[in-house]
Amino acid sequence: MKRRDLVKGITLLPLVGGSTVSLGASLSGPLPERDFFKELGIRVFINAAGTYTFMTASLMPPEVVDAIRVSAKQFALLDDVQDKVGEKIAQICKAEAAMVTAGCWSALVIGMAGILTGMDNKKVAMLPFPEESGLKSEVIVQKSHANGYHLALTNTGVKIIMVETSDELRKAVNEKTACLWFLNREAPVGSIKHEEWLSLGKEFGIPTMIDIAADVPPVENLWRYNEMGFDLVAISGGKGLLGPQSAGILMGKKDLIAAARLNAPPRSSIARGQKVNKEEIIGMYAALDRYVKLDHKKEWKEWEQKIAVINTAVKKVKGMKTEMIVPPVANHTPSLKVTWDPNVTTLTSEDLGKRLREGSPSIEVVSWEEKDSIKLTVFMLKNGEEKIVAQRLKEELEKASKA
Ligand SMILES: *Cc1c(COP(=O)(O)O)cnc(C)c1O
Repeated sequence: MKRRDLVKGITLLPLVGGSTVSLGASLSGPLPERDFFKELGIRVFINAAGTYTFMTASLMPPEVVDAIRVSAKQFALLDDVQDKVGEKIAQICKAEAAMVTAGCWSALVIGMAGILTGMDNKKVAMLPFPEESGLKSEVIVQKSHANGYHLALTNTGVKIIMVETSDELRKAVNEKTACLWFLNREAPVGSIKHEEWLSLGKEFGIPTMIDIAADVPPVENLWRYNEMGFDLVAISGGKGLLGPQSAGILMGKKDLIAAARLNAPPRSSIARGQKVNKEEIIGMYAALDRYVKLDHKKEWKEWEQKIAVINTAVKKVKGMKTEMIVPPVANHTPSLKVTWDPNVTTLTSEDLGKRLREGSPSIEVVSWEEKDSIKLTVFMLKNGEEKIVAQRLKEELEKASKA
């Protein structure tokens, strides 16, 4: 290419993009706020349902959005960002080490990969074929804990071995067993509890991993399972922690976190597609830092007050039965279940869900779980939205009730 052509090419570039603003300039001044949802015609709604991925789960507080905005302005080595943020997260969560992953699912994949490969790059390249490569290749899971999320582990090529009792577990252990995996949410229903799971891991010298994806609050759960002795702990960033929805945390033993990072970006491996960049890593740290400093008692009281506002309105409609529920482990926040008599209120759960969704403003509740009943939570509501939810619910229930 001649020099003249090169110069021509460069001067043409900004015109191709339809703008003469350089990258440098566009990053310095404040941008006018642009409502992309409106512009693109995307429905937005009040989220009284909870942290569902298909509803985009949670909203990041200003501290997190600011952290993302500020860290978008500089380059840094991805490994340096993971090193420093990992140290801080480990301190907060009383773990030996930690890293930010692309969600809890990604933490399970990368953590599992680390267990299989250790610090051996040759082994990293053998995944997802651990068995064919002569690596350990089995993970033991309680049957009641295997409800979908355990499949994240199989991204590494491992097989899931189901057991129901500790006797069955003892029989299942062999030289291929790589890990004992535990789903905290199902702890109440599994016959083997945390302590026994850990002591079986110790007895056989097999690493233990626990999934606590949606299990804050309470805040203490951030360190509880590290202190209890799980070798790896995985949690979602964008559920109760209100971090980036595409982030999560893997924490635990130093050697395992180092091995996990060998299997994670910027290196190419099975987890290459699970990249989190500096903004999300730092955003995750900002979210965690904010979360542990919150007044959790006050927040809980505010949630109860919001539930009370909705409850009071609903109870004014004839025949409504309400019940405040706090799920024991995951999404452990005040929720309200509203049930009606189908002879009095001629509405299916789905109908009510649809009317709230199609009303103005649009509202989402959980309308697909039970007949003649809906469930709602308030921990994803902005202040004041509880009044709108209360009024809209009352309106629709009254309309559907026989006088
Ligand atoms: C949500 C969830 C996950 C997946 O978490 P992401 O952060 O969305 O990747 C894994 N396990 C359990 C139990 C969950 O509830």
